[in-house]
Amino acid sequence: MSSIASAWPALASEGRHLIQDALIAIRNHLGMEVAYLSEFVGDRSVFRYVDAPGLEHMIKPGDSLPLADVYCTHILEGRLPELIPDTASEPVAMALPITRNVPIGAHASLPIRLPDGSAFGMFCCLSPRPNPSLNHRDLETMRVFAGLAAKQVNAELEAHRQGHARRAALDAVMQGSNFSVVFQPIMDLARLVLVSCEALCRFNPQPYRSPDKWFQDAAEAGLAVDLELMVMETALAGLDSLPDPVTLSINASPATILSGRLEEALVSRHLPRTVLELTEHAMVPDYAELQRMLAPLKRRGLKIAADDAGAGYSGLQHLIQLQPDIIKMDMSLTRSLDADPARRALASAMTYYARETGAILIAEGIETEAELATLRALGVGRGQGYLLGRPAPLAALIGTPLAAAA
Ligand code: C2E
Ligand code: MG
Ligand code: MG
Repeated sequence: MSSIASAWPALASEGRHLIQDALIAIRNHLGMEVAYLSEFVGDRSVFRYVDAPGLEHMIKPGDSLPLADVYCTHILEGRLPELIPDTASEPVAMALPITRNVPIGAHASLPIRLPDGSAFGMFCCLSPRPNPSLNHRDLETMRVFAGLAAKQVNAELEAHRQGHARRAALDAVMQGSNFSVVFQPIMDLARLVLVSCEALCRFNPQPYRSPDKWFQDAAEAGLAVDLELMVMETALAGLDSLPDPVTLSINASPATILSGRLEEALVSRHLPRTVLELTEHAMVPDYAELQRMLAPLKRRGLKIAADDAGAGYSGLQHLIQLQPDIIKMDMSLTRSLDADPARRALASAMTYYARETGAILIAEGIETEAELATLRALGVGRGQGYLLGRPAPLAALIGTPLAAAA
């Protein structure tokens, strides 16, 4: 059997196992030697999944056969039945050389259908010997397994199509720098004055997707660092318009910091009024290396913020290892903390931790007066959220009362 280039996206491991398990189960149930799932590619049938213990030299994934030589088209067009307990009783099968050459004594095959009804390929079992005991019930059992396999195939094809479309959209965005940066105020909660603002990216293509989704797409395409640095350059330009002593917070992933390209991107920047936010959502594979990369930037005045603190899986370890200058308490802890003693206790603990480690605490996502009042009462120094100001173009921040210069 010849091999042809794979047009088939490699299935995620869960889907791969499910199809393989379905082939094993039906092959054992029917007592046959070979089970496979094939795809029609041009005028060939390509084996994508195969279960044929001991016969791997004869049939393996990637092998293919001309459609003209096999049963598939005859089954799809009704010249051969889906279930053939004994090929000797089917003249169309006997006329095909493959029946004698393999040989094929018993055969059961069902189409894997795409959503438009067309056949993607076949879900098939065969044996070199006839098996007169095979009956309608066996075929119906096989139909259940073929249905499961078809569901996996269609889900994977759809995911592949969506991934393709997202990649094309990402390439277009990056080529045309089709994004803008908005700025959200960070306020001193006691005096309600502007002390900082966070640069947040907005990608222009419609329908709107939040920036973390675009960064996730970029990460999957291996372009996360390029995109982050591109956005960062636009965000950093905002610092020129911010009056001293207001600082600018920019977001970065561990991957960008560990890439070693951050220092180069910040080489001509004035860093004492710049904060780098590192989310707790992304895993840091090596904190020592991260600190090594950040050290020269910190020496130039860059401050480090632990973003989304209290939301990620690395939790307190992240805070201990990162040793941030600023801790941004995740909005899931801010939400309704006025009515929730557990959240209040955690916010209070964070206030204590920040004070003991010399860090500034910022509560994220403040939406109500009650949340604001409670945070103030707990001694949380700074806050950010829709109540205090939504992310907006820089011009919208002008006029916000400022903290006096140090
Ligand atoms: P983040 O850094 O934690 O940013 C805070 C997010 O909370 C922003 O969402 C902001 O619009 C939203 N937010 C602020 N106040 C409130 C509030 O009171 N209520 C609610 N419900 N939400 C509030 P956004 O802009 O959609 O950004 C989501 C995430 O995407 C950011 O989380 C950050 O991780 C990432 N991101 C955004 N811009 C950039 C960027 O320029 N570079 C990088 N690397 N990541 C970015
Ligand atoms: Mg942030
Ligand atoms: Mg955050």
